[in-house]
Amino acid sequence: MKTLNDFNFDNKKALIRVDFNVPLNEKYQVTDASRIKAVKPTIIKILEDGGSCILMSHLGRPKNKEEGFSLKHIVNTVSEIIGVQVQFVEDCIGEKAEKAAKELKPGQILLLENLRFYKEETQGDLSFAQQLAVLGDFYVNDAFGTAHRAHASTAVIAEYFDGKKCFGKLLEQEIESINKVMKENKKPVTAIIGGAKVSSKITILENILDPIDHLIIGGGMAFTFIKALGGKVGNSLVEDDKLELALHILEQAKQKSVQVHLPVDALIADSFSENATTKQAPIAEIPDGWMGLDTGKETNTLFAGVIRESKTILWNGPVGVFEMKPFSHGTISMGIAIAEATKNGCFSLVGGGDSVAAVKQFGLEKKVSYVSTGGGAMLEMLEGKTLPGIAAIEN
Ligand code: AMP
Repeated sequence: MKTLNDFNFDNKKALIRVDFNVPLNEKYQVTDASRIKAVKPTIIKILEDGGSCILMSHLGRPKNKEEGFSLKHIVNTVSEIIGVQVQFVEDCIGEKAEKAAKELKPGQILLLENLRFYKEETQGDLSFAQQLAVLGDFYVNDAFGTAHRAHASTAVIAEYFDGKKCFGKLLEQEIESINKVMKENKKPVTAIIGGAKVSSKITILENILDPIDHLIIGGGMAFTFIKALGGKVGNSLVEDDKLELALHILEQAKQKSVQVHLPVDALIADSFSENATTKQAPIAEIPDGWMGLDTGKETNTLFAGVIRESKTILWNGPVGVFEMKPFSHGTISMGIAIAEATKNGCFSLVGGGDSVAAVKQFGLEKKVSYVSTGGGAMLEMLEGKTLPGIAAIEN
């Protein structure tokens, strides 16, 4: 794996694909700068080597060159975070961009205009990639959020940088942390898979059975398993066309000696609402008219026990409707148990989807080993897919 440390950027221009697709408010102010902060170490390393940085990113989904999607809105925020006044050029290819890149001196940073102002970016157009490539001496990919896309700036461009391309520090960390779960793991390995539906997690479930010892299933998707096993789930979320598949996954787990932990009780509600009447119920005896919206007390104790004994943990998906306070206890309890395990030396990765939001919401972000920055990209890695953005650097 080629990383930043394999190169010295002294007097060189690094063309860095970053993910500055940040949320903006109506005044075009950045409301969450996590993605900018995440690439700071990469930028600093290059500047400290004596190089310069040319940053390229997309922002939103513009149809054409729409002012509202201009990256000029974020220049001040990037400058403040990095601690260097960032220059901006109102195009990402062509004369203006080439002139600005050429004039860039060591220690300086240039931000290019939104890549998606050209439809060629998402089309993975070769000539567009080549026009971007002329701007830098080295290509660095540090945009995990788009690593699963075969776009011009995320993958295609790499072929113009033979021997002069590498991962940025963020992408390196993402790859390393998933490897710590899937490959170089310490046992016992536990995966907690929650969320709404089985259908969106099937490939992950099938792919993770090999490296893990324990599989905890929670959230709405657990009810498809419970019903498949003959339980009464009332009005809980169920995918009736996935009952067979649920049994198949349980069978596969058995063959691979993976211990599956399903909820034994649930917090049930008489409507999908914060103000619903609620009560605890055994998981397979949920009356009609009631639905399970969170794991029950016994389940939380059971799951926490498995988590505390683990040396490696992957958490993907909440175990209840955590967005509503009455149904957030299960997810909070998972988060606290993972934080405790982490404190005792376990490696914990939270990634792909809503568990990331949950961890942030409950202030547990710093108490787990790693929180992934790429939703879709992380999901595809867990599914065992090769991401175009990663393959392009490795080839
Ligand atoms: P996902 O994006 O697949 O990880 O699903 C996350 C969503 O699953 C969250 O919005 C949760 O509110 C939802 N969820 C979790 N548990 C349940 C449940 N028991 N019933 C319905 N939805 C749930």
